[in-house]
Amino acid sequence: MLTLIKNGRIITATDDYFGDVLIDGETITAIGKHLSVPDGHTVIDAAGLLVIPGGIDPHVHMELPFGGTVSSDDFETGTRAAAFGGTTTVIDFAIQYKGKTFQQTLDDWDARTQGRCAIDYSYHLAVTEYEPRQKKEFQQVVDRGITTFKIFLAYPGVFMIDDQTMFRVMQSAGEAGGMTLVHAENGDAITEMISNLLAAGKVEPKYHALSRPPVIQADGVSRACKVAEVAKAPVFIVHVSCEAAMIELQRSRDAGNPAYGETCTQYLFLDDSYYDKPDFEGAKYVFTPPLVGRSDVTALWKGLKLGYLSEVSTDHCPFNFKGQKELGRGDFTKIPNGGPGVEDRLSMVYHGGVIERGFSLNKWVELTSTASAKMFGMFPKKGTIAVGSDADIVLFDAVKQRTISATTHHMNCDYSLFEGWKIQGEPVTVLSRGKVIVDRGTYVGRAGDGQFLKRGACGKM
Ligand SMILES: [Zn+2]
Repeated sequence: MLTLIKNGRIITATDDYFGDVLIDGETITAIGKHLSVPDGHTVIDAAGLLVIPGGIDPHVHMELPFGGTVSSDDFETGTRAAAFGGTTTVIDFAIQYKGKTFQQTLDDWDARTQGRCAIDYSYHLAVTEYEPRQKKEFQQVVDRGITTFKIFLAYPGVFMIDDQTMFRVMQSAGEAGGMTLVHAENGDAITEMISNLLAAGKVEPKYHALSRPPVIQADGVSRACKVAEVAKAPVFIVHVSCEAAMIELQRSRDAGNPAYGETCTQYLFLDDSYYDKPDFEGAKYVFTPPLVGRSDVTALWKGLKLGYLSEVSTDHCPFNFKGQKELGRGDFTKIPNGGPGVEDRLSMVYHGGVIERGFSLNKWVELTSTASAKMFGMFPKKGTIAVGSDADIVLFDAVKQRTISATTHHMNCDYSLFEGWKIQGEPVTVLSRGKVIVDRGTYVGRAGDGQFLKRGACGKM
């Protein structure tokens, strides 16, 4: 079965030209002018539209148990919402619960995902305990196509590891051709600050932000980068949300270390004034790290432009306001941490980057797709439009205006972080490995279209 996408403006991280894309089965087999297919095959007219590689969101949490509840998008609804938003690959986090081996953890995540995803997917393995005797397991995980490991310097007693374990994980990951992702904070100091706030009767959502200020994140980033340096291993800082943390990353990078990082959509648009919303609405913005000041928003965009931050993910981890966020009325520590975002990422980065700040279309594609494909071992199968690449392709209307709202989005969440925002640009048709799964705004795929994606060596950009 052949599919021909005709007359579009093809944008990759490096190219920008008008042409036709020929797809045979799941793969791009030719790109040129005036291509044709025999009768009976599919022709898609992309005149007036951008033709871009499918988005990659390397940081999502579907159906994640957290704080006595579970994130409200499961793998079926969450990956379908991603598809609507022009994202064709997601990387979730398989979290090692105490006493489980790495293999058991991955088997557990396989059981959740198999036959349920709308788009291709992978996991980072979140390591919560690691002894030297488990070292051979690292290579087994890499052989299974999981080349990224995640550690937490936050949530003591639940996910947090000590510095010795951090060193071990980084070293073993590096030796196996992998890379360590770090949630960088200082969990112990935060615990103490939380106790002090609660003891003083400070229980509203805004105190979530005050309990984990930028300097605490900067401390975590600094430590992670320095330990990675002595472990001689690549490190990747997830969800960098403030300038202070970015400067630590920048420092390590400038010293010649393979130290990388990302930010997320919400930190590029929202600031800590959202915590002052009335009627407990500030809880909608309780995620970790929290929102910070307006000057940090400006700094993060600059970091993206200069390459100190490599890509934009979402940390998609939605909880409904009703029944879930409300668990934290009267105690901000009981508000489940996370927000919805996987569907809006491509559009928001287009709007904020290309329309409002003059970023090139190439930079937009790099930030939302290509950089993640390279960083996490998927390039050039994913992240570009080239002969031999998977036909993950989005037709994007760069002109259309629309209003974001929870009443029209496809994420299983009763609120939007960007409710009522008027933005320009919208994905209209989405192909995943050659199959049309969103056709002019209508979902035509099915659960199980998406496959587990084996990834290769990473940490080199
Ligand atoms: Zn996360």
